[in-house]
Amino acid sequence: MAEILVLVEHVDGDVKKVTLELLTLARLLGEPAAVWAGPGYSDIAKGKLAEFGAEKVYVADSADIVDHVVAPKAELLASLVASRAPAAVLVASTAEGKEVAGRLAVKTDSGVITDAVGVGEGLVADQSIFGGGVNVHSRVAKGTPIIAVRPNSTAPVPATGAAAEEKVDVELSDSARAAKIVERVKQEKGARPELTEAAIVVSGGRGVGSGENFAIIEKLADSLGAAVGASRAATDAGWYPHAFQVGQTGKTVSPQLYIAAGISGAIQHRAGMQTSKTIVVINKDPEAPIFEIADFGIVGDLNQVVPQLTAEIAKRK
Ligand code: FAD
Repeated sequence: MAEILVLVEHVDGDVKKVTLELLTLARLLGEPAAVWAGPGYSDIAKGKLAEFGAEKVYVADSADIVDHVVAPKAELLASLVASRAPAAVLVASTAEGKEVAGRLAVKTDSGVITDAVGVGEGLVADQSIFGGGVNVHSRVAKGTPIIAVRPNSTAPVPATGAAAEEKVDVELSDSARAAKIVERVKQEKGARPELTEAAIVVSGGRGVGSGENFAIIEKLADSLGAAVGASRAATDAGWYPHAFQVGQTGKTVSPQLYIAAGISGAIQHRAGMQTSKTIVVINKDPEAPIFEIADFGIVGDLNQVVPQLTAEIAKRK
């Protein structure tokens, strides 16, 4: 069975959830082979990759690969495409993943699909376009299919793989070394879970009314152990940082529970959250379009509903 290469996203020696999703997809398409770029391959990482079905792990542990921004990862994958002839390459459809995919496509003279939300038989990808308004089925017609899949579009399902380690060296070209990371500044990690990986997300929109009032959204989120998200109207107004924006031009989330408070449900917002398992809407306008995709809706003023909900959850703990 031909290999499906999966570029591993990792942080502090641990594998990110999106990689487990990609491995789950890869198992349906061929033999999953993970590609670890950079130092820090650990027993924890190996354990997780094996748990989610990686039969092989190509480890390129040179620091050069992560010190030179994105291009070396594309060169590493290109060398593996040339030597192993995989059936396809899967990467996360994140800002970095899409850049890797694009560069790899040029290097291997292959077609690339981004923003896939699924990949099926015959390597046909479901691709979400026009801000999630239209889904198309696409297939790469040239070279090795390179498919960038959106985080949270597949549920990760465990299945044991051998995770046989194979070291790989890659000779980086001068152009791959053209840009170098000079400093890494670690973002303050709050107590809340990371937005794209959280099981519960509580998001606020223009209806929240001010930056200060986002405190009620945060309190509800904390009572549930949830991440906080925001609509673009709220981030553009400076009420909440852009890093927490959910939607077409923000993050894509697909939690078990998504609570949208004071958000109207514009197509660009839906594009980032409509695959959430259960959607709860709090909005004072019963005609707000977001009710169309709600599993549960509360018509009311969020200034009353949200604190009541937080108090009720606190009582039940
Ligand atoms: P509004 O549409 O103004 O809705 C506010 C809602 O709050 C209303 O439904 C109102 O009834 C309700 N409300 C008001 N007061 C209360 C109250 N006290 N209690 C309860 N409910 C109340 N948007 C995104 O979110 N993410 C994106 O990534 C994104 N990308 C975009 C990309 C492009 C190219 C474009 C053109 C737009 C993009 N947008 C995005 C913007 C999007 O079109 C909407 O403008 C935005 O989502 C609206 O945010 P909102 O729902 O918070 O505000």
